[in-house]
Amino acid sequence: MSTLPKIGEKDPRYEVLNRRGFNKRFTGKPEYFKLAETVEDVVAAVQEAVTEGKRLSVRSGGHCLEGFVADPSVQVLLDMSLMTGVYFDEEKKAFCIEAGTLLGEVYRKLFLGWGVLIPAGESPLIGAGGHFQGGCFGFLCREHGLAADYLYGAELVVVNENKKAHTIVATREEDDPNHELWWALTGAGGGNYGIVTKFWFRTPGVNSDNPADLLPKAPASVHLFRANWNWEGADQAAFSRLVKNYCDWCEQNSKAGTPEATLYSLLMLRRLQTGSFGMIGLCTAGPAAADISRKHVEAVNEGTGLQFTYETEELSWPAFACNPFPELFGVGMDNARMQGKDAFFRKGLTAEQINAVYKHLTTTEYNIMGAMFGMVTYGGKVNTIAPDATATPQRDCIISSACSAGWGSKEEEAAHIAWNRSLYRELFAATGGVPVPNEQTDGAMINHPDADLADPAWNTSGLHYSAFYWKGNYPRLQKAKMRWDPLNIFRHALSIQPVK
Ligand SMILES: Cc1cc2nc3c(=O)[nH]c(=O)nc-3n(C[C@H](O)[C@H](O)[C@H](O)COP(=O)(O)OP(=O)(O)OC[C@H]3O[C@@H](n4cnc5c(N)ncnc54)[C@H](O)[C@@H]3O)c2cc1C
Repeated sequence: MSTLPKIGEKDPRYEVLNRRGFNKRFTGKPEYFKLAETVEDVVAAVQEAVTEGKRLSVRSGGHCLEGFVADPSVQVLLDMSLMTGVYFDEEKKAFCIEAGTLLGEVYRKLFLGWGVLIPAGESPLIGAGGHFQGGCFGFLCREHGLAADYLYGAELVVVNENKKAHTIVATREEDDPNHELWWALTGAGGGNYGIVTKFWFRTPGVNSDNPADLLPKAPASVHLFRANWNWEGADQAAFSRLVKNYCDWCEQNSKAGTPEATLYSLLMLRRLQTGSFGMIGLCTAGPAAADISRKHVEAVNEGTGLQFTYETEELSWPAFACNPFPELFGVGMDNARMQGKDAFFRKGLTAEQINAVYKHLTTTEYNIMGAMFGMVTYGGKVNTIAPDATATPQRDCIISSACSAGWGSKEEEAAHIAWNRSLYRELFAATGGVPVPNEQTDGAMINHPDADLADPAWNTSGLHYSAFYWKGNYPRLQKAKMRWDPLNIFRHALSIQPVK
């Protein structure tokens, strides 16, 4: 039995731990928390919960966008926030990152220790535990690919068919008997197979005695840009041209290895009521970065007749990675409630889709501020990997998009969610209200889960949610599920389903 204390409601830490989750739209009420410090702690805590027949979940960074962890049915919540080591493991010849480490700390330690990086997500407060299993796109994905593309292995606590919790290590080595479990961890998303305690990372195909050669080098500097357009004067024609320009740029500039693949931008199309919409981005091309960035923004504005403001900034890699775009990831996020609905695009938006965006941003039917349609540049190195080489199958997309709404109090929820669902449904009206994999769209990413995909009221395509997240990789993920979590202990609203 576990000797770790059960942190119940009377313990002052309970409330703090229970409010850790980023998306305050969801609240759970576990009977108790456990704070693990070692893999043995995790084995014991899992064994105790399983023996007692309690529903168990795990939290690392708390940045889940859906209610997978803050689920009222969860009785025991294992919190990984004390497991935060980042070091070079001489035996594995790979960088080890413990599951509770937040991304900012990953970036900081990899840079200070070795001058290297893992191309992972944008917010420095995301936790390794949930993040790395979901593919992981980020600011440098066009240049270096996804974090999952560098995953060498992981240590997990799993539960076998005899209800016995035990530790297992899975690596990408072809002769590793647990190779399929490693593969599953490169895109299935957190909460599916067991509790990961550590990840190891190393660039595939590189052998060296110098750790600094075993992951991508951090850029010498990061050139940031921010462009802003006033809604005033932006009529539908100008707006549509601008969005189409952005799509065209992505179609023409998303090849791996090109100077433009060192650029990444987010077009944030906010509601008319906010007064403006904007673009932020970065480029790591050194002396050429300023020129590449300015040309990108000018190409997006081309022919619109609109004026925009343009600001730039130079930062070191760690200064940027540990506090990127504070206006986006900083202040005011502590009480955020939100819904995000993602979609991948292989080609730019159609005129009808751009009209749907314009309509939803300018309508007065919904009196809401905190909502937007966002697009980010995708592709580049991400698209050099085969769809089945990892469990993340979307490997020829050029744009990732999100309809997102954020609000402060419970009372505002219904209007924001209605707006968000309405936009998404209209965007994909031709395919059942969802981005069915086809010539233009290609599903969505599990790191940005959307439980509506499992709801026939919002997904009328007739396709199971797995067709959006994992496409043809799903049967292989199910096989791994049957082998390493045969009792389906680790599950949530969008988890890998065991084969019946
Ligand atoms: C502000 C914000 C910005 C984001 N930006 C990006 C981005 O740029 N790129 C991107 O790819 N994603 C991004 N995400 C999504 C993020 O990667 C996922 O939500 C990820 O799952 C969060 O991991 P976590 O450990 O912080 O979350 P948690 O809420 O702790 O966990 C998320 C899921 O993983 C499971 N899990 C957690 N720890 C473990 C573990 N140790 N072992 C097994 N399962 C575990 C949980 O049970 C849950 O199902 C962002 C999210 C937010 C809120």
